[in-house]
Amino acid sequence: MSSNQALFERAQQTIPGGVNSPVRAFRSVGGTPRFVKRAQGPYFWDAEGTRYIDYIGSWGPMIVGHVHPEVLEAVQRVLVDGFSFGAPTEAEIEIAEEICKLMPSVEKVRLVSSGTEATMSALRLARGFTQRNRIVKFEGCYHGHADSLLVKAGSGLLTFGNPTSAGVPSDITKHTTVLEYNNTQALEEAFAAFGDEIAAVIVEPVAGNMNLVRGNPEFLQALRRLCTQHGAVLIFDEVMCGFRVALGGAQALYDITPDLTCLGKVIGGGMPAAAFGGRQDIMSLLAPEGAVYQAGTLSGNPIAVAAGLKTLELIQAPGFYERLTAQTARLTSGLTAAAHEAGVAFCADAVGGMFGLYFTAQVPASFADVSRSDIARFNTFFHQMLDAGVYFAPSAYEAGFVSSTHDDAVIDATIEAARRAFAARAS
Ligand code: PMP
Repeated sequence: MSSNQALFERAQQTIPGGVNSPVRAFRSVGGTPRFVKRAQGPYFWDAEGTRYIDYIGSWGPMIVGHVHPEVLEAVQRVLVDGFSFGAPTEAEIEIAEEICKLMPSVEKVRLVSSGTEATMSALRLARGFTQRNRIVKFEGCYHGHADSLLVKAGSGLLTFGNPTSAGVPSDITKHTTVLEYNNTQALEEAFAAFGDEIAAVIVEPVAGNMNLVRGNPEFLQALRRLCTQHGAVLIFDEVMCGFRVALGGAQALYDITPDLTCLGKVIGGGMPAAAFGGRQDIMSLLAPEGAVYQAGTLSGNPIAVAAGLKTLELIQAPGFYERLTAQTARLTSGLTAAAHEAGVAFCADAVGGMFGLYFTAQVPASFADVSRSDIARFNTFFHQMLDAGVYFAPSAYEAGFVSSTHDDAVIDATIEAARRAFAARAS
C-alpha cells in the first residue's frame, strides 16, 4: 500500500504540482493531499485505507452519493455498446428534453464536456448575438478558465479587468469588467456608463467559488431588468448551483429567467458532461444553424449522458430536495451550535444541498466579506476534521456539498467531530 505522501512525491515528478486541478494540492491549507482509492455513498477511502466522510462530492456532481447502484447500472448497460461515436444518439435527445423540461428558460441546449466549455461557448454566443464585445462578471465568481473570464476586480469600480493568470493577454481581458457581487448600485452605474456596449453579464446566482455566497434577490432582479433594458444577454452560470440548490436550479428558487444558462456537474452524474442553453432565438445562432462556431469530439458522450440521465431521474423523486435541504441544514445548524458552545466566532449558510462554513460572525455577501473571515482558523479546523475522518473542501474559499446518502448518522458524526475540534481549540 502506498502512502499519500509517497504518491504525492511521485505525482510531482510527472504532473505539475502533483495534481490535475490546483485546489486538490492542499496549497492553501498545507499538508498532504489524500489520494483517493475508491468511494461509496457519502464516503471515500484514500490510498492508506482511511475512510472519510466526503463533503465535496467531486465539487458537486455526486448529489446521489458515490457509485449509486442505479447510476452504476445505467453506465454498465451502455458501456458495452461503445464508448464514443462522434455521431448523434437518441440518449442525447432524451437528456436535452429532460433539461428543457426541468429548466423552462432553456428552450434549446448544447452538450459539452466541461463547465469551462459551457461558459466560454455561452459568451461567444452572446457576443455573436449582440454584436458587442464587453462582458461583465463579478468578483469571486468563477466561470471556468477561459481567457476572458480569468479576471479579478481592478481597484477602481469601472476599470478594465486585469488578467488573474499569466498567459492571458490584456488585449482579451480589456473587454471584461469586474464588479462587486451583490452590489446593485455598482451594477446600475456600470450599465449607465456603458450599457449599450455590454454583450453579456455572467453570474453565479448562488456563488460557490468564494465559499458559498448567495445572490441577493434584489441584486439578481436588477441584473435581469438592466440586461433587458440594455439588450445584454443575462447568463446564469449554474454549473455548480443548477440541480443542486433546487430541482429547477437557482433560477427556479429566485423566479428569474436568464437568457442563457450554463450547466455541468450534476447533469453528468460524475462523468464529463456539461451544457449551455436558453432562448431559442439566441441558441439558433449556433453552428450548424448559425454563424457562431462551437464543437466537441466527445460532446454528448454516451457514457456521460447515461450517468447524467439517471442522475436527473433520481433527483426528481418526490421529496428529494426537501430531504437534501433538511440534511444540509442539519449539518450547518449543528456545526454552528457546536462552535458557539465552544465560543468560536463561526457561522454557516446553506442553499439546498450546498453549504458554506465561515469563521466570522456574519454570513458574507461578497468576496471581500469572505476574505475578512479567519482563514488561518479555517485551515486548523480543516485539518482537525481531516484527522477525524471528515473531508471538507481544502480552502476557505470553497463551498461544500451534501448528497442524498448523507443520512442523520453521517451528519451527526460530523457534528460530533466538529464539537471536539472546536473544544480542543477553545481550551
Ligand atoms: N462555472 C462554475 C460556477 C463552476 O463552479 C465551475 C467549476 N467549479 C466551472 C464553471 C468550470 O467547470 P469545469 O471545472 O467543469 O470546467
